[in-house]
Amino acid sequence: MNGLPQWALLAFAALLAIGVSIIFVALRITGDDQLRAAHLLAQFRASVTLESAKGWQSLAEKGSSDDTRLELETARVRSVGILRQLLRLEPENRTFKQLAQTHRGYTRAVDDELALRAQGKLREAEEVNEKRVVPYFGKLHGLGLRTDFRAKDDALHASNLLSWASTALIFLTVAVVVVMFRIHSRQEQRTLRESEERFRALIHNSSDVIELLDSEGRIAFVTQSVKRILGYKQEERVGKDVFDLVHPSDLGPAQEELSDLLKEPGGMRTIAIRARHKDGTWRWIEATVTNLLHESLVGFLVVNYRDVSERKALESELSHQAFHDSLTKLPNRLLFKDRVQHALARRNEQGRCLAVLFIDLDNFKAVNDSLGHDVGDQLLVAVTKRLQECLRPSDTLARLGGDEFAILLEDMQHVAGAVLISERIGEILRAPFDLENKHLFARASIGIVTDISPDTDTDQLLRKADTAMYVAKSKGKATYEIFEPHMEDAINRRIRLEADLQLAIEESQFTLRYQPIVELARGTIYGMEALLRWEHPQRGLVLPLEFIPITEETGLIVPIGRWVLREACRQARQWQIEHGLRRLSVNVNVSAIQLQDAQLAEDVAQALLDSELAPRDLILEITESALMLDTEVLASNLKGFKENGVRLAIDDFGSAYSSLGYLSRFAFDIIKIDKSFIDGVGTGPRGSVLAGGIVKLCQSLGLQACAEGIESDVQLEELSSLGCELGQGYYLAKPMETQAVPSLLSEERLARI
Ligand code: C2E
Ligand code: MG
Ligand code: MG
Repeated sequence: MNGLPQWALLAFAALLAIGVSIIFVALRITGDDQLRAAHLLAQFRASVTLESAKGWQSLAEKGSSDDTRLELETARVRSVGILRQLLRLEPENRTFKQLAQTHRGYTRAVDDELALRAQGKLREAEEVNEKRVVPYFGKLHGLGLRTDFRAKDDALHASNLLSWASTALIFLTVAVVVVMFRIHSRQEQRTLRESEERFRALIHNSSDVIELLDSEGRIAFVTQSVKRILGYKQEERVGKDVFDLVHPSDLGPAQEELSDLLKEPGGMRTIAIRARHKDGTWRWIEATVTNLLHESLVGFLVVNYRDVSERKALESELSHQAFHDSLTKLPNRLLFKDRVQHALARRNEQGRCLAVLFIDLDNFKAVNDSLGHDVGDQLLVAVTKRLQECLRPSDTLARLGGDEFAILLEDMQHVAGAVLISERIGEILRAPFDLENKHLFARASIGIVTDISPDTDTDQLLRKADTAMYVAKSKGKATYEIFEPHMEDAINRRIRLEADLQLAIEESQFTLRYQPIVELARGTIYGMEALLRWEHPQRGLVLPLEFIPITEETGLIVPIGRWVLREACRQARQWQIEHGLRRLSVNVNVSAIQLQDAQLAEDVAQALLDSELAPRDLILEITESALMLDTEVLASNLKGFKENGVRLAIDDFGSAYSSLGYLSRFAFDIIKIDKSFIDGVGTGPRGSVLAGGIVKLCQSLGLQACAEGIESDVQLEELSSLGCELGQGYYLAKPMETQAVPSLLSEERLARI
């Protein structure tokens, strides 16, 4: 019966009841037959008695009337009918058969006697009466009585049996059903108990905590797993307010959720909150609360919660990764844009002043290409640290990618603050970075946006800052520019230039101008500086400052520079031959990117070989800033030039690099004093101090000094008197087309001198 379902028990009980009823009916039928037989026998006896009485009546009337005869016949028919019914009830009953036979004999005997009496044969009639009628009647009566008693006994017996059997069967049925139900309910109770125990064990050992709360939020029950998750024993939590461990920042939302849930019977809410562990740390808990207050079997709010701190930590790690740069740990472009967006919204509300700075490191590509990405990465990290030093905690520094950084300045008193920070960044980046036993330099071009109109969106803002940065870059790098609307045209022009440059190489749109370098003391031409020009099909002549930064960033400067070198050498040698000049040097500008090209020394040697120009007539001009990236390639290129006999000049001396160590290290021959120092010459005694100092330095080191950008006779005279050996400038001669040079060379001296 183990596990027998209730419906099976009910079906079994019903079957039993049906069985009992069938037996009962069967017994009842048997009992009825017995009673009926007894009843028929009594009727039979009465009928026979009537027959006998009518027989005697006929005898008494001597010849019997028709009525008496009819009544006699009726009584006989009735007796025969009763006998038939008896035989139908029990066809095999011998007594009934005997009765029928005797009755037939009796009927015939009576008829014979009546016939004899009617014939007047009284003696024979008496004889028939005595010998046949009376014995038959006696037998008939005796048989009828005996049978009647037996039938009555049988009926009584059957009736008793029926009562007993019914009682016993009913009792048995009831007993069986009761026993079955008892067994079943015991079984059910055991199953219920076992399931309850199982359930209890499950609840207590489940990794989740289950709590029952009343409508006030007080804990009525809590599973022992609370110890594992929050460090408390069950009894320490029961009766406490469920909110007393909730983090203050999560308290408001949690209480709100609960009060909403109270209005919603059967409703369910899932919330994530921080809860304080007994050890004082905060754990992230994910709780599902179901309102079962209205359920009569429960009557509580059921809380089911688990520790999701690890999952939360992973989530926050993933979101940190999604919003931060993995190298510098700074916010990435995505997060930066988000911060800018928020700042814009806040500014609109409170009218605060904010600025965005777009920072791009100059020539970073060269660091990566020549020293490898590891060093590049180290430099980026070191630059990040320095940039952070310039900022307040409320400012956001982000790495937008590659060598691009951005700064969001909020809560500024005045927009001039952005300029101050840009200058501070320029200042702080001046000192070299010591990485891998090398002095590395990282200069930055900065674009600033301060004038932010209320409807500016984030992307527009970043594009404007980017534009200003490009303008700063094209103005010679290591500087900053504040965005102005017209810059966008410049940028568009720049974008077009980038596309056009590739075509310019293919279609040889480059040309060279030459600017004389003069020996100041004698006024004779010492050499020519080759200056690159781009003859743009639509825009006409484009100056190098506009396109050289782009060629440096794209690497196009390498093939372009190679062409300049070959063309300048070829041209210089041609002039030497045509004019019978023993000496005429040619100055070729070499960019920082070219100096990091391992091919350069070979290119120079090849250009000299092809042009047959004497190596000492080639002067390579290298800007100070190109020396900042002191790599092995640079050193081997410079060494290669010297071994070939090529001379080296420092271009724009004094404009960038304050260390003079490289002068002796790389054996320079000429120092070209930057125009900014020459501008002061002739403006009074103080204006010439620096230029005079550099000239003296050159003399003491045995180098030639060359003044750049001489624009007046005063400057020329002053520089001559300072002892400056060489000079170049619009006052002497502007850069000129190749075909203009021969007439100048044939004059031997410059007209103005
Ligand atoms: P740089 O090498 O210092 O060349 C001198 C620049 O000063 C030239 O500008 C020249 O036209 C200009 N200049 C000369 N005298 C005066 C003067 O009296 N007043 C003023 N205001 N300017 C004067 P340019 O030709 O526009 O070249 C600019 C710079 O572009 C060059 O400066 C050089 O750094 C670079 N550059 C020119 N050609 C090449 C080249 O073939 N390769 C590389 N890598 N750079 C080049
Ligand atoms: Mg130059
Ligand atoms: Mg120069």
